Amino acid sequence: MDCQRVLSLMDGYLDRELDLTTQLAIENHLAGCPACHAISQRQQAFSAALVAQARYHRALPALAAGIQSALDKVDAASGTTARRAPPWLSLAASVALAALVGSGMTYWLARPSHEELLTQEVIASHVRAQMVAGRLTDVSSSDSHTVKPWFNGKLDFAPPVLDLTTQGFTLVGGRLEYLANRPVAALVYRHRQHLIQLFVWPAADRPDTVRHALTRQGYQVFYWSDHTMRYWAISDLNADALKSFSNLIQDQAAAGRASPAASRLPAPEDLR
Ligand SMILES: [Zn+2]
Repeated sequence: MDCQRVLSLMDGYLDRELDLTTQLAIENHLAGCPACHAISQRQQAFSAALVAQARYHRALPALAAGIQSALDKVDAASGTTARRAPPWLSLAASVALAALVGSGMTYWLARPSHEELLTQEVIASHVRAQMVAGRLTDVSSSDSHTVKPWFNGKLDFAPPVLDLTTQGFTLVGGRLEYLANRPVAALVYRHRQHLIQLFVWPAADRPDTVRHALTRQGYQVFYWSDHTMRYWAISDLNADALKSFSNLIQDQAAAGRASPAASRLPAPEDLR
C-alpha cells in the first residue's frame, strides 16, 4: 500500500472501521514508513486531546423544560392510552437517522471506484519496482522465449509475452506482481529512456474491449480486456507513444489467439 492510499484511509484506520486485511496492510505500512507513522501519531494525539479537553455544554433551561414536559405528558397519558414515543424522542431518532444516512451517502460518494483503486495499485507497483534495486524484473531477458516460460508453474495462466523489438519497444523482462487481489504477470518493456510495465491477468467477466486512458500523477495508464486477459499498461511515456504500444499489444494478442486455419492472420509462431 502506498503513502497516498494509507493517508486516504487514515481516519477509517484510526477509528478501526476498515476490514482486517486493509487494517493490517496499513499497520504494515506504518511500521516501515516514518512519514505516515508521524502523521498517524499526530492524528491520534489530536483525537485524544479532543476527547479529553473538549468543552461540554449544559443544555439550555428551555430545552430541559421542554423534554421534562414531554415526559410528563407521556406519563400522564400512559395510564389510559397506549404509550407512544414522546415527540422529542422521534425527533431525536429522525435526526440520528438523517445523520446516519448523511454519513453513509458521503461514504458512498467518496469511496473510490474499483478502477480507481486498481489504478492506484498499478501506479504504486510501477513506482516501487523502479525504486527498489533488483525489484523490476525476476527474469531479465529481451527474448520472449525466455520470459514466457519463466511464468510456467508460477501463474495459473500463460501471459502473452510479445516481441515488439522491431517496433521500438524492447522487452526487458518480467516478474510476478500482486494486483487486484491475485498474482499477475508484470512485463517490462523499454522505449528509449522510458520504462513501460504491462500487467496481465485473466479476464474474469465479459470483455471490456474499449480502451481506457488515464493520466495520474504524471503517468499514462491504458487498460482494456479481451476475451481472455485483462491488460493494464503504465509509463511516463507520452500518451501517443503508450497508445502505439497498447495498439501493438492489442493487435498481436488478438492475432496470437486467432486460429491460423480460421483466419488470414499469420500463425502465432510467426509473431513471437
Ligand atoms: Zn507512507
